[in-house]
Amino acid sequence: MATVIKNGYIYTGGEIVHSDLLIKNGMIAAIGKNLTAEKEINAQEKLVSPGLVDVHVHYRDPGQTEKEDVRTGSLAAAHGGFTTVCAMPNVDPVPNTPDLLAKMIQNNHKAGLVHILQYAPITVDEDSKEIPDYAGLKKAGCVALSNDGKGVQDAQTMFLAMQKARKNNLLIAEHAQDDSLFNHGVMNDGPTARLLKQEPITELAETTQIARDLLLAEKTGVHYHVCHVSTKTSVELIRIAKSHGINVTCEVAPHHLLLGEENISKDDSNFKMNPPLRTREDQKALIAGLLDGTIDMIATDHAPHTAKDKQGGFKNAAFGIVGSETAFSELYTKFVKTGTFTLQQLLNWLTFAPAKAFGLKKAGRIAINQPADIAIFNLEQKAAINSSDFKSKARNTPFNQDLVFGQTELTMVDGKIVFQKGGK
Ligand SMILES: [Zn+2]
Repeated sequence: MATVIKNGYIYTGGEIVHSDLLIKNGMIAAIGKNLTAEKEINAQEKLVSPGLVDVHVHYRDPGQTEKEDVRTGSLAAAHGGFTTVCAMPNVDPVPNTPDLLAKMIQNNHKAGLVHILQYAPITVDEDSKEIPDYAGLKKAGCVALSNDGKGVQDAQTMFLAMQKARKNNLLIAEHAQDDSLFNHGVMNDGPTARLLKQEPITELAETTQIARDLLLAEKTGVHYHVCHVSTKTSVELIRIAKSHGINVTCEVAPHHLLLGEENISKDDSNFKMNPPLRTREDQKALIAGLLDGTIDMIATDHAPHTAKDKQGGFKNAAFGIVGSETAFSELYTKFVKTGTFTLQQLLNWLTFAPAKAFGLKKAGRIAINQPADIAIFNLEQKAAINSSDFKSKARNTPFNQDLVFGQTELTMVDGKIVFQKGGK
């Protein structure tokens, strides 16, 4: 059956056109005026975007499905307008063999409502120096390599991993963190940590490891991707590396753009994540980094936890917040509505740019003969974020009750509706 999305403002990459969009057999068949089909979706005054792409989510499945599973994680993604996500491998068991990975990919496909691409680990587990069979993992279908949640501590291990990844044409996505400097901190090393008497996290834990890895990446030629850059110095290091022709890309998380340590007014673990919320100066540098192309994309680091895991304030709660269901509306409201970013820039960082960096040819753009992965947003209506409406199992967000524009109206994957506002 054919479907037509009528009268939307369609982001086609670069420009936004007022047009109809025809979908046949799950693919985009035409963009133009006066298109017709048996099924019509009215997108009058709405934004019709390529389904958003998030290269950084944690679905906790298998191993910690009380926090999230593939089904609920993908429902949350769809609710936020995301149609392609890359899931981190810090699950139990870690998918460090082709068989384990194949099993996860099978479940992602079966239980997931959106396209879930799967990372394989850099080392057999996060504390190991042993490098798994990258060729086999690639053959089994991993999208890239990451130990996210932890940094690769040993330089020689990272050097070997990069050489092997390069040989297998695999991207390494690094959670840059030197544990000896991190030293059990819970909050950015600054006035808020001192005021609330919390263990500080020095930015050096992030920046020294990025500096190390950029040199290793230069030597090996691997595609090195930095997860969730959070400091001004990180941006500066990556800017220099790019100017030297080093094959590096990086992402920034919405919360590091939207919030800083000053926003933590009390010991509320919904503001506890890793890397931590930094300074206003860091926030400004992250925004500037996006605008000048140093930062390639925005990725949520969707990190669901149970209420129990988030108990105990900064000292004891788990790191991380959910991000899929608040990213677009928060970023649109705080940055596009205020004129900091154009809508096209924001959409690029959430669609085409991540797809391009990760080589996802079927994601991130609306074009003829592309899969009909589409998100329709209402940019005019203002509403409060209500974490009890989340499709995720988790509620750990600092954005609850924020008034935002940019509600998801409908999300479609391969031409099939996977989320519809007011639907069940
Ligand atoms: Zn991380």
